[in-house]
Amino acid sequence: MDSSHEKLQHKAENGGDQIPATESNSNNNKRPLDNETIKVGSSSKATKQKSGVSASFTGDGISHVSNAGVDATKNEPADAISNHGNGNDKAIENADKSKDDANANANDDEDDDRTSKDYYFDSYSHHAIHEEMLKDEVRTRTYEMAIKQNPHLFEGKIVLDVGCGTGVLSMFAAQAGAKHVYAVDCSSIIEQAKAIIKLNKFDDRITLIRGKIEEIELPVPHVDVVLSEWMGYCLLYESMLDSVLYARDKWLVPDGVIFPDKAVLYLAAIEDGQVKHDRIDFWDDVYGFDMSPIKEIAIKEPVVDVVDDKAVLTDSVPVLTLDILTCAKEDLNFKNPFLLKTQRNDYVHGLVAYFECAFTQVHKPIGFSTAPFARYTHWKQTIFYLEEALTVCAGENITGEFACKPNHKNKRDLDIIISLNFEGKYSQFKRDDIKYRLR
Ligand code: SAH
Repeated sequence: MDSSHEKLQHKAENGGDQIPATESNSNNNKRPLDNETIKVGSSSKATKQKSGVSASFTGDGISHVSNAGVDATKNEPADAISNHGNGNDKAIENADKSKDDANANANDDEDDDRTSKDYYFDSYSHHAIHEEMLKDEVRTRTYEMAIKQNPHLFEGKIVLDVGCGTGVLSMFAAQAGAKHVYAVDCSSIIEQAKAIIKLNKFDDRITLIRGKIEEIELPVPHVDVVLSEWMGYCLLYESMLDSVLYARDKWLVPDGVIFPDKAVLYLAAIEDGQVKHDRIDFWDDVYGFDMSPIKEIAIKEPVVDVVDDKAVLTDSVPVLTLDILTCAKEDLNFKNPFLLKTQRNDYVHGLVAYFECAFTQVHKPIGFSTAPFARYTHWKQTIFYLEEALTVCAGENITGEFACKPNHKNKRDLDIIISLNFEGKYSQFKRDDIKYRLR
C-alpha cells in the first residue's frame, strides 16, 4: 500500500465530488510561461526524482503511478530534492540556475542564434523546461499509460496535441495506433520536435504545426482526440487550459476524447512555522534593519514548494472540480466555499493548494495527484501564508471562500482572494479579502 491509498481514504471522508484520481520552490522556480513573462533560468528546477515508476492499483478503480524509488512515508524523492523547509533549497536552485545559464551560453554554434533575450520572450523554447517535464515521471508515465493502454481510443483516429513541446505525447499517440497526429506549439521547441519526430520515424503520421492554437489552421475539419498537458502551478497558472477549451470547441467531434478529462483543485491548512519564519518573518529583522515593507509584498505571493505531508493538519477539500469535456472558460474564474476540519491541536500558518487530474474516458481510469501525500511532481504544492497563525484544536472548523481568476492585465497570472473565518477555543480570526497574486 502506498501513500496514495491513504490519501484516497482521507479524501473519501471529505465527501464532495472529488474525482477518483491519484498519484503522482521557491517562486523563482515556477514553470515558465510563454512569451509574456518570466526570465531565463526560471526553468531551473531541482528535479532529482528516482526513476522506476510502475502502475499499481488501488481500491477506487484508478491506476496510480506508484512511488517506486521514493520514500513513500516522506512523499518526496529520496534524492536531494529541494525539500520545503530545508535550507538547502537555495543552494540547489542556484546550482541549477547557474547550470542553466551555462547551458544557455554554452552553445556558440553559428547555426544557433538563440539568445537569452529570446528565452525571456519564449521560455518554452529552452530545452531545460522540457527536460524537467519529461523527467517528471509521475506526469509523463501517467500520460504514457493512459495513451498506450488504450489503443482502442487511438487506432485509426485523428489526434490533436495542444502544446506538443518535444512531441512526446504525440509519439505516444502514434505508438498507440493513431492514424494521424497534428502537433501544435507556438514555441521554437517545435523545431527540435520536428527533428525528433523524423529521427524516430513518425514523420509520416505526425504533422507539426508551429503557431498559437488560436491562430493556426488545421488541415482537417475535426479530430477524435484532444491531447494536452496544460496544467500549471495551482492547476490554473499560465491559463493554458483556455487554449485546450478553444481547440475542443473548434475541432473535437461530438463524443470525442480529451486527455485528461478531469481536474480537481484541493485546499488544506498547514503548520509551517519554520518556513514562514524563514521566508516571511525574515523581513522583520534583516541585519538589525526593519525591512517589513518587503514582508507585505512577500506574503501576497503564494510560494510553490514541497510541503511535508505531516504539515497538513486538516482534511483536504475540493475548491474546484473541472470536467474538461464540458467546462467553459468562465468556470476558471470562480469563488467557492470550503470547510476545513482540523485533525489535531496545532498552529495554522497557511493554506496549501494542490491538484489532481485524471483520464476517465479510458478502459481503466488512471490519474495522478500533486498532493503532499503523493509522489513528488514538478508542480510541487502552492502555499498561501497567513499574516498571523491560528491556534487550532482537533475537531474545530476553519471556513472560508477561495476565489481565483486570471489577472486582468496579465491573464497568465492568477489573482486569488481567500476569506477565512475561525472561531476556535484559543483564537479567533475573520478576514474577507486576503489577496494573493501567483506570478
Ligand atoms: N506536451 C509537452 C509540452 C507541455 S508544456 C509535454 O507534455 O512534454 C506546454 C506547451 O504548450 C509548451 O511547449 C508551450 O509552448 C505550448 N503552448 C502553450 N500555449 C499554447 C498555445 N496557445 N498554442 C500553442 N502552443 C501552446
